[in-house]
Amino acid sequence: MNLGLSLLYAAERNPEAEAVVDGQARLDYRSLQRAAAGLAAGLAALGVGRGDRVALVLKNRRQTVELYWACQWLGAVAVPLSWRAAAADVAYCVADSGAAVVAFEEVGLDHARACLEAADRFVAVGTADAGSSAALAARFCADGGAPPCELYESLLIAGEASGPPEGLDDREASIFLYTSGTTGRPKGVPRSHAAERAGGLSQALHQSYRPGERTLGVMPLYHTMGIHTLLATQVVGGCYVCQPDWSPAVALDLIAAERIGSLYLAPTLFHDLVHSPQAATAEVPSVRSLAYAGAAMTSALVERCVEVFAPEVFVNHYGSTEIYTYSVDFDQRAAPGCAGRPATNARLRLVRPEPGAGPDDEVEPGETGEIICHLSSDEAFCGYWNRPGADAETIRCGWYFTGDLGRLDEDGALWIVGRIDDMIISGGENVHPLEVEDVLERAPGVREVAVVGLADDRWGQAVTAFVVLEDGAAEAGEEAAAAGLDAYCLASAELARFKRPRRYQFSDSLPKSPSGKILRRLLREE
Ligand code: AMP
Repeated sequence: MNLGLSLLYAAERNPEAEAVVDGQARLDYRSLQRAAAGLAAGLAALGVGRGDRVALVLKNRRQTVELYWACQWLGAVAVPLSWRAAAADVAYCVADSGAAVVAFEEVGLDHARACLEAADRFVAVGTADAGSSAALAARFCADGGAPPCELYESLLIAGEASGPPEGLDDREASIFLYTSGTTGRPKGVPRSHAAERAGGLSQALHQSYRPGERTLGVMPLYHTMGIHTLLATQVVGGCYVCQPDWSPAVALDLIAAERIGSLYLAPTLFHDLVHSPQAATAEVPSVRSLAYAGAAMTSALVERCVEVFAPEVFVNHYGSTEIYTYSVDFDQRAAPGCAGRPATNARLRLVRPEPGAGPDDEVEPGETGEIICHLSSDEAFCGYWNRPGADAETIRCGWYFTGDLGRLDEDGALWIVGRIDDMIISGGENVHPLEVEDVLERAPGVREVAVVGLADDRWGQAVTAFVVLEDGAAEAGEEAAAAGLDAYCLASAELARFKRPRRYQFSDSLPKSPSGKILRRLLREE
């Protein structure tokens, strides 16, 4: 089934159920479906047809959700792009995807102007906090050189609402997601209607969504976690509560006021949430299901999340933009950080982490290997957009090579060891940053930590910890703080002596991707 029909079914099933909340705006499924159909007609009047790409440089808002569904209704391809990225990177993605239209809000004004060569149609989306669409369109055109800019509201009434795309093959692309790209240029990942819907259904299943589930829409809609939160909510006729800007205090207020039932966030956001001053008194009994993805949580963070939310289920979702779900662990309380077993749509293997290794080069039980996932997964992509080199590198004999290292424990559960590229070789020994971070995260005074290998004459690579300390923890000076952390590592039964950091660097924050992944490459470059 294509996603346009999926929305139609939801609207026919429960027309009056709340579908989207954004500030004062509340839409039920009937209104959402009408908005999607109206906007689809407006996009068609702009010349957008089936398979055409529509770039969205928008925060998580009602209008973003409506435009996304309008693309699905029309059979066009949504290309949500990060408004946090540099304008030039957005222009690159717009040109790469061949998007004919760019819809943008205030925060995307510079990005849109950087796309003047790449695209020829623009849609200004006004917002309650930043002003009207007309004012934004006027600013877009003010410096000259820009084509006329459509207004979001006029798109809505541009034509007769069109019918849903009945003949649209669900193997066609519904969205291009650009990978967060911890290395190199972002790559476009075309995702079919079928794969996206399968991802939404499996998320609802894995995270124990109930009919009418209410979710917090704060993971960006340009990221696989964000868009699947929207889809999983839609398949159960639930309500997606938009949070355009991250603020732990606002999130806690929304959870209480909107009776959010499930939270699916990157560990960094959980970290902010449970360590915010408001967490101690937050009214969060509605939250039943906690889930995270993007990076493993440390045991300390799992514990704190359990204290604050006392969830019924606590899921670790391991997946990617290319294949939405690889594996799932359903009880983080019992095994913090464990990535569990293959997900309902996934078949996994661990193979020797060597260039040219094939799917049959499996490692021995208990050994670390590269995680590969079979492309027959309902949630899999079929290859990158115009990147034959990347396809050849990652797809071999029908398997997708994730670039992640993992190992199975004695019960057959998967543990993610790290990215192949992040592995540190220090004094001839392999050290994976996560095992060091997991210990240091629990040291007194440590707020956040990231470990990388830096070139070193003696060690080849020296295990180096970048640490953000809690306020007041560095009062005795950085040298004393480093000595304290070294003593902590030496006393830890979990960390071999040779794996402990040889250098410490202290800073106020760590560089992160939009999904909260630490950008180790930037730390190494620093
Ligand atoms: P992205 O395509 O941006 O979602 O990134 C996918 C990558 O994030 C994976 O290949 C892993 O390296 C990492 N990742 C995703 N989920 C997890 C998880 N639950 N635990 C550890 N790493 C994860």
